[in-house]
Amino acid sequence: MAGIEIVQGDITTQAVDAIVNAANSSLMGGGGVDGAIHRAAGPTLREECRHLRATDYPEGLHVGDAVATGAGDLPCRYVIHTVGPNRHEGQIDPRLLASCYTRSLDVAQQLGVRTIAFPAVSAGAYGWKVADVARIALTTVAAHSRDGIDLVRFVPFDPTSCAAFEAACAGLG
Ligand code: ADP
Repeated sequence: MAGIEIVQGDITTQAVDAIVNAANSSLMGGGGVDGAIHRAAGPTLREECRHLRATDYPEGLHVGDAVATGAGDLPCRYVIHTVGPNRHEGQIDPRLLASCYTRSLDVAQQLGVRTIAFPAVSAGAYGWKVADVARIALTTVAAHSRDGIDLVRFVPFDPTSCAAFEAACAGLG
């Protein structure tokens, strides 16, 4: 059974096999954690995303889905891009957010990833309360098969988010 841990910080510096990006459907980069990942990864990642979009995802990646690329200059091997639900566009179904976490784990398992770090998907520009994100993230990951995965690390960016993840983790019992 994979361990779950919470480490406050910057996801771009995590020494894990894969980090998850809270991308947008265009896969063309954006602000928040997406911008930070693209800045740290450099032009190779942008080019890979552009290629994916042009080939496999001409209409963009769907909300709740996930897809992997290489990681450019980042210390990890893969970036797994997932698109969180945007509350400002009425995407309020928690199953969409849960799907980001399950699909990312599925993709990670297919790649043989053993260690993976997640941000608080949808807790920034997409308007979800971080306490809700933390609860959905923790319960979803705890319930999902983590065969082959040794470590799932949640990386909340700031102390408030970190407290929300710690509370949600404690709530798992
Ligand atoms: P979304 O559009 O899915 O809401 P955002 O990137 O706006 O995505 O925010 C998601 C979460 O990621 C927020 O809690 C934000 O504080 C956090 N975040 C921003 N930069 C980083 C980073 N470098 N590492 C980890 N988390 C980050």
